Amino acid sequence: MSLRGIVYARVSTDKQAERETPIESQISQCLKYAQEKGIEVVAIFKDEGISGSTDKRPQFQQAISYAVKNNVDCFIVFDTSRFARNREDAIYYKRLLRKNGIELHYVVTPLPDDPVSSYLTEGIFELLDEYYTLMIKKHTLRGIEESIKKRIYPKNKCPVGYKVVKGEDGKGRIYKDEETSHIYLKILTLFRRGLGALEIAHYLNRELGTDEWNKKKILRVLKNPLYKGIIEYGEIKVYFEDLRYISDEEWGKIQKELQRRHKEEKGRHKAKMFFVGLLKCGRCGSAMTTRTGKGKGGLYFYYVCYNRLHRKCKQEILPAHKVDEFLSKEILDYILNEQTLQELTARLKETIQKASNNFLEREKELREEKEKIENQINNLIKAITAGIDPHTVKDELNRLQAIKDKISAELSHIKNLKTLNVAPRINPAQVRAVFEELVASNDYRRIRSFFKTLIKEIVYDNKTFDIQYSPALFVIEGNQGRVTGLEPATRGSTVHCSTS
Ligand SMILES: [Zn+2]
Repeated sequence: MSLRGIVYARVSTDKQAERETPIESQISQCLKYAQEKGIEVVAIFKDEGISGSTDKRPQFQQAISYAVKNNVDCFIVFDTSRFARNREDAIYYKRLLRKNGIELHYVVTPLPDDPVSSYLTEGIFELLDEYYTLMIKKHTLRGIEESIKKRIYPKNKCPVGYKVVKGEDGKGRIYKDEETSHIYLKILTLFRRGLGALEIAHYLNRELGTDEWNKKKILRVLKNPLYKGIIEYGEIKVYFEDLRYISDEEWGKIQKELQRRHKEEKGRHKAKMFFVGLLKCGRCGSAMTTRTGKGKGGLYFYYVCYNRLHRKCKQEILPAHKVDEFLSKEILDYILNEQTLQELTARLKETIQKASNNFLEREKELREEKEKIENQINNLIKAITAGIDPHTVKDELNRLQAIKDKISAELSHIKNLKTLNVAPRINPAQVRAVFEELVASNDYRRIRSFFKTLIKEIVYDNKTFDIQYSPALFVIEGNQGRVTGLEPATRGSTVHCSTS
């Protein structure tokens, strides 16, 4: 099945329009782009003669709604300025599309406009999302804890060695399952014999004549505290003696052994290679590239001058894990000082405040939409009661219900955002946490792109790194390039690297 997309085009009325790409040309280029990418265009929307930044763009709203409702894959526009009027809009609608699994395509690849602050804002939004989810969860968690205490298992499926028995109230309660307990015991035995999770899975599939076991599932079983009698759900832990298979001590041993094997597998020095593409050799000016080597503790990673690989430079070889650790700490320390944090926080607050106006607009739109859908549903139901064959309208009814569910979900999300009053809650500590969490994560692709937005290049020579920060970081949008906070500057830091 091919990807489905919509095209949105816009021109303004004011004099600027003369310099803009004409609407028909925008559309034809979007269509050409779609064709090249194998995207089937299912609808085209255009706003003509829309001027000024505060004007509503009726077709744009239509386009967004259409894309969300009809589950299209791509939203195609000619360039960034066609999509959003300002940054707040961009952030809001990009997120909305992304949440619905719709990819935004620009025919003309945009230059990164203030990448750092948009990155930051996105990070903060994500953080806030998590925060709200947490707040909402807190309420529901209390209910869940009560039901777990009544032995009601909080997940759909219970692991091997257990069964869920439905009670008179229709709710499933968890008990040990004598029929499958031997499978769990077998897993334990094999694990203690030194078999890996994958081998255990193969063994079980062969023995039991199934294919339901895999590495992940075995690991989940071995890590599940249920086998020592604890039903765990988030932070909730409820203990039942009769659910226990093994002692706390045995269970703990398994966890330690799992960690040990995991480390061995990964190699002692887990290189993150954060600075690929940023590091330069100070001796010859060539890029530092990456190499791996095998050592006692597993795989080792290095940054090596490209010319050194061809014996044209004598630059030393740098152990990547040391460099990554040192540089990421240096850079975070440099950026995360009080002044910059204050500055960034203020900017974010402002952005979010403005974005919340979009929420209100969107909310109104959704309400109207919901009412329409409800009317349509009611009409169909009336038709059924009046004697029409329900089968003829079943699909339509399902479709409308699905749309209504989507709208309701978004409405409740907006409601949460509103009631919790976002803006004043952001503080520098949170901004700092967003960065620190990112760098500590395993999402190397994102980490690399994060450093790439912050840093122009890093030159290494003679045990010294010169870190050249990207000026974009310090320019506040809308202030005509006013440089605030830190001056974009070259700064030298020293790290001691042992040549291996
Ligand atoms: Zn070199």
